[in-house]
Amino acid sequence: ARTPIITGNWKMNPGDMASAVQLAADVAAQTKGLEGVEVGIIPPYPFVPPVRDALKGSGITVGAQNAFVEDKGAFTGAVSTTMLLSVGCEYVLCGHSERRTIFKEDNALINSKVLKVLSKNMRPILCIGESKEEYESGLNKEVCAVQLGKNLAGVTAEQMKDVVIAYEPVWAIGTGLVATPEVAQSVHAYIRSWLAGKYGQAVADDVRIQYGGSVTPESVDDLMACPDIDGALVGGASLVADKFARICRFQ
Ligand code: 13P
Repeated sequence: ARTPIITGNWKMNPGDMASAVQLAADVAAQTKGLEGVEVGIIPPYPFVPPVRDALKGSGITVGAQNAFVEDKGAFTGAVSTTMLLSVGCEYVLCGHSERRTIFKEDNALINSKVLKVLSKNMRPILCIGESKEEYESGLNKEVCAVQLGKNLAGVTAEQMKDVVIAYEPVWAIGTGLVATPEVAQSVHAYIRSWLAGKYGQAVADDVRIQYGGSVTPESVDDLMACPDIDGALVGGASLVADKFARICRFQ
């Protein structure tokens, strides 16, 4: 059985370290004793060590929003997986739509990041999903298939146990327009069948597929009731401790 995984992607929030530490401490307090679900927080780089410390003993893990593909050297502004590992990051978001669009990351770079993260025994959370136009043209599954094929190139079946896929339809991110459970489930089932085609059913059955895009306490329960939805990647609602804690306590 797949352990559900709920992660909060804080994006470029909150505005200062004191608020970040407070938010992490509040989430830890409000999820205390929660079992049967993996909870993670993905803060901006400078807040990783203090957030990690604020979460100590809570069982909540810490990840990073991005990483570069080299270990060290003359790459101004970049942060390596080696550095992230050394400060306690267990996973790294790869291919978030904001990285793809605002920072012009292409599929080949995202693939290199996935492979780099895996090479350090950290877990990539690979984000895929279609734009509004693609959704309206009925191309959501095709877009996911192309991204999966390119972003997972060279990833072995053995490595897939460390990979989390996040289906984040771009039109649902930050818009309040959550995908219906029916739409999300159908894409998640498609993603799993794609994984089964490439890696075999047993491997596909063990891969956790998160849904992301305007997840709230109001929408999480129906989403998590779907057979192929194994978790949530939460943006806006992860910045409010009681909302995020309620999402982690999905029913
Ligand atoms: P929102 O939950 O704010 O829509 O963001 C989703 C997201 O992009 C998580 O990575």
